[in-house]
Amino acid sequence: FTDKPDEVPSVALGMQRNLSVITVRLDVMTVTPWLAPVIWDGTFDSSIIDSLYQPQNLTIGTTVFAIGKYTRFIKGFLETAEKHFLVGYKVNYYIFTDKPDEVPSVALGMQRNLSVITVSKFFRWQEISMRRMERILNTIEERLLKEVDYLYCLDVDMLFHNHWGAEVLSTLVAAVHPGYYKNPREVFPYERRPASQAYVPLDQGDFYYAGAMIGGLIENVRALTRTCHQAILIDKQNDIEAAWQEESHLNKYFLQHKPTKLLSPEYLWDDTKPKPPEIHFIRFSTVLKNYAEVREN
Ligand code: UDP
Ligand code: MN
Repeated sequence: FTDKPDEVPSVALGMQRNLSVITVRLDVMTVTPWLAPVIWDGTFDSSIIDSLYQPQNLTIGTTVFAIGKYTRFIKGFLETAEKHFLVGYKVNYYIFTDKPDEVPSVALGMQRNLSVITVSKFFRWQEISMRRMERILNTIEERLLKEVDYLYCLDVDMLFHNHWGAEVLSTLVAAVHPGYYKNPREVFPYERRPASQAYVPLDQGDFYYAGAMIGGLIENVRALTRTCHQAILIDKQNDIEAAWQEESHLNKYFLQHKPTKLLSPEYLWDDTKPKPPEIHFIRFSTVLKNYAEVREN
C-alpha cells in the first residue's frame, strides 16, 4: 500500500512470489464519518468500476439549464461532455431553455441522446437558478422515471477536462464545494437565519456541498428535489430567500439525508482558483464569466 505508486521499484521476484501495488491517498479525506467514499484520483480503478456498471445496461440522464444568455455555454458543455462524461454509457441530455433555437447541434456518440425542454424565463437570476428544483421534479415525474436509471443535474457554465465516469454512480451523490473543502464548518456559507427552512446551526454540518451538481438514482433525486422545492415554497410564503438559494436548501437536505458518495473537488472545480497539489486532475470546471453581463439583472 503506497501513496506513491510511481516510486515502487521493480525488484526481481522468485517463483511463486507476487507483488500488487495498491494506491492509497493519505493527503485527503477518502471516506466520510458515515462511511461514504469521497472520490479522488487514486481511489478507484476504472476498469473494475466499468466491469461492475457496464453489464447493467444503465441509462444516465443529465439535466442542464440554459436560460437567457446562458445558451452560449451549451456548445462547450456538450462537446466536452462527449469526450469525458460517462463515455461508453447510454446518456440522455435534457436541455431546459427558453430559446430552443439557440441550442447548437453537437455531434453525439452512439447511445447518446438529447432532448430540448422549452421553459419560460424568470426575471431574477436567483429565481432561474432556484426554480431548477421544481422543474427537475416535474420532469422526473412526467418522464424521467421511465427514461433513466440515474440522474445528474449540472450547471451549464462548465467544461469537462478529464474523465468523469461511472465512479460517480451511487444512490445519492453530492459534490464537495471547491471553495470550502479545507474550511471548518463554522465558516460554511449555510443559511444561518432560523426563519428559513434551510437553516443550519453553527455546530452542525458535515461538508459544504456545491449546488452545481446533484446526482443519484432517479428515485433519490426525485425525493431530494421534492423536499428542496417544498422548502423553497415555504420560504417564499415567509418572504425569506436563503443565502445561496437552492444550494442552501441542498445543504440542509444533505445534512439530514447523508449522501452515499461524495465527489471531491476534482469533479467540480472553480477555474478562478490555482490547482493545489492534492488535485491531480481537474475533471469538470467553471467557465470564467462576466456575471454582470451574462446574468442580465
Ligand atoms: N442559469 C441560467 N440562466 C441564468 C442564470 C442561471 O440558465 O440567467 C442556470 C445555468 O444552468 C447556470 C445555473 O443556473 O449554470 C446556476 O447559475 P450560475 O452558474 O450563474 O451560478 P454560479 O455557478 O455562478 O453560482
Ligand atoms: Mn455555475
